[in-house]
Parts: sequence; structure tokens; C-alpha cells
Amino acid sequence: MDHSGIIPKARTHFIKVKCKACNNQQNIFSSASRIVNCNVCGAVLATPTANHAKIEGEIVKAVDQ
Ligand SMILES: [Zn+2]
Repeated sequence: MDHSGIIPKARTHFIKVKCKACNNQQNIFSSASRIVNCNVCGAVLATPTANHAKIEGEIVKAVDQ
């Protein structure tokens, strides 16, 4: 495992996702490397895949950084 710095050339996207369970909206990384849970109710909003996160909630908008 090499953790020697910033991931090269990984474009970082923030996505605003709405929780289907409680309608909470929060920003998450599109490239989340671990499960992202809703801050309010704990429902899963995104699960990691090889290349990018699979978004489980409703995408409100994507934001280029
Ligand atoms: Zn929720």
C-alpha cells in the first residue's frame, strides 16, 4: 500500500445527494472510497466501487471543483 500523497489526477467532484429516507441533503465525494451514510438518519448514501462511488440517494446536483 502506498499512501505517499495525493491521488494523482483524480478529479474531485462533490455531489449533493438527497437521502431518500429523510430528505436530508448533504455533499459527498463522487469518488468516495468508503460507504457514506446520511448524517441525519444513517441511511447509506453512497457505496464505493472500483472507479467511483455508487450513489444510492437522489442526486440533487453535481459540483465541479
Ligand atoms: Zn437520511
